[in-house]
Amino acid sequence: MTNTKQYFDSPEFREQFHCDSPLGSFLSPEGTTFRLWTPTAEAVELRLYPAGDGGGPAEVHALHPAGRGLWLWETDRNLDGTYYDYAVTVDGIARETADPYARACGLNGRRSMVIDLRRTDPPGWAFDRPPAPKPETVIYEIHVKDFSWDPASGVPEDCRGKFKALTLEDTTLDGGGEHPTCLAYLQRLGVSHVQLMPVYDYGSVDEGGAADAFNWGYDPVNYNVPEGSYATDPRCGEVRIRELKEAVQALHRGGFRVIMDVVYNHTYHLDSWLWRTAPWYYSRQEKSGAPSNGSGCGNDIASERSMCARYILESVLYWAEEYHIDGFRFDLMGLLDVELMERIRRELDRRWGRGEKLLFGEPWSAGGTGARPGTVLAGKAGLPLLDAATGAFCDATRDAVKGPISAEEAPGFVNGGGLDPAVLTNCLRGWTRAPGEFSVKAPSQTITYLSSHDDWTLWDKLVLTMDRSRDFDRLSPELLRANRLAAAICFTCHGRLFLLSGEEFARTKHGIRDSVCSPLSINRLDWRRAWENRELVDYYRGLIALRMQLPGLQDKSPRAGERIADVTEPVRDCVTVRVDNTGGSSPWRRLFLAYSARQEETDVSLPEGTWELLADGTSSFLWRDPEEMERRFTLAPVSAAIFGQR
Ligand code: CA
Repeated sequence: MTNTKQYFDSPEFREQFHCDSPLGSFLSPEGTTFRLWTPTAEAVELRLYPAGDGGGPAEVHALHPAGRGLWLWETDRNLDGTYYDYAVTVDGIARETADPYARACGLNGRRSMVIDLRRTDPPGWAFDRPPAPKPETVIYEIHVKDFSWDPASGVPEDCRGKFKALTLEDTTLDGGGEHPTCLAYLQRLGVSHVQLMPVYDYGSVDEGGAADAFNWGYDPVNYNVPEGSYATDPRCGEVRIRELKEAVQALHRGGFRVIMDVVYNHTYHLDSWLWRTAPWYYSRQEKSGAPSNGSGCGNDIASERSMCARYILESVLYWAEEYHIDGFRFDLMGLLDVELMERIRRELDRRWGRGEKLLFGEPWSAGGTGARPGTVLAGKAGLPLLDAATGAFCDATRDAVKGPISAEEAPGFVNGGGLDPAVLTNCLRGWTRAPGEFSVKAPSQTITYLSSHDDWTLWDKLVLTMDRSRDFDRLSPELLRANRLAAAICFTCHGRLFLLSGEEFARTKHGIRDSVCSPLSINRLDWRRAWENRELVDYYRGLIALRMQLPGLQDKSPRAGERIADVTEPVRDCVTVRVDNTGGSSPWRRLFLAYSARQEETDVSLPEGTWELLADGTSSFLWRDPEEMERRFTLAPVSAAIFGQR
């Protein structure tokens, strides 16, 4: 096994086997072609099936080698809709495998399907365009199934938990016609981007099994095919494709850009389609030959190898091109290499325009990885080497505001941990050229956030740190105050903004830290709670609307941090800041921000001149009819205030 590592890492292997020809199955007026890259194969068989699952092959054909590891079979027949797989023989062992380059598949993705993609386009697809960019990026992370599973969502039963639910534009609580849910709710909230947790075909949910099976989906099986359990018919290969396109189209029509969560760092099992077509080539190995496990999922993709890099790059471009995806969130980006991330950035920019497609990821991994020596990984240390338009989740702000994810009861700024002016300054500046681990070139690289699907929800972290009775359901005023302060800090920090769906209504998973395979009763968005907690929702809504008007906070340039000045500490746990808000069409040239984590009221001196109170600890909509004030202001306990000066 050690030898495979050295062999696949060697320049000689690349020289001999790197292949730039198209891979997959293709239809043309001349017929159908099957093209598989399998450099170490001794024989390859193609098996054609009338169905995506069950029954034996109707035909078997031998592929022939065509050089550089490419194997081919061609026919003058049009095999659109035919299912297929391969038997690849390496070292005398024949392995059955679907096509890793498949763009359509049958039930549970075990067989691939030849597809004419044009017949999967919904009406009007050729004219589908993303909405014009908003002044600020506010990303809302949803899971297709948990978003609409709750009957209170008002989504018809046959659409609940499906791509179809994302096409419904006027759903209301309990179907009562009054309080918007799902897309209509998000439009009112004002977010700019909807991020879909994995929607490629993953393996942990049986597509033919129970309707309420749940998993986040970080276990990729077919990278270039949508997940079948979100489709109304997972057995019919074109349905999942058409229905995801319909969802993207509806999201675009609704005013949202669409981000896809992509998990190229590992496959569901080491024994994947990639592995079966080229054993060990796509997988990092330790010196001992054991599979590398920096993902914590049992295997790591060898992104630094040329055919693996090609695979990932082409997959990203395919989703952008075929499904009109507007951005990509890379799971465990710290396992992929900087060179590949830079190539992806360049190709996206070249095809769609500079920065048009968002690109960001998690700048960490679950552990060390056996990458080829000399590989530079896109973890935190790699951030300054990445393009300024390639971003990363900022755990520094997240942990400073609400407390670290490493210790349940450890607090942050808003829940008793103290408000440190030096750390807050770095948060406000999006950690641009900051000392310490998280440091970026510009706020364009910073994803500023408080919660994502991982770890405790913001609300649960507040309960764990502030409520001894651990009552996750009770909406206590004290916790709501801390929640609003956390949101106000987040929405006044530089960077692109991100929130877990439901953070704005105190979403709870009842203290469960990792709900990856928890039941839907834990994971589903509780639309009744969203209504009950509408005051908190409105607080987020006002912050989002205000942020859209503040060029001083939207600034993504390397010098944006210079706008943040005069960070002062009038009293302990109370910090004030001035922000230069010039440069856009905002009515306010200057901002004055005040944050207090104190349990008492705090008197704050306003800088010279007349100030308008745009938001305080209770309302973030004061800017619609602002009160003017001078000299002094009394800041409520555990609250923030945002002032503007014309
Ligand atoms: Ca699946």
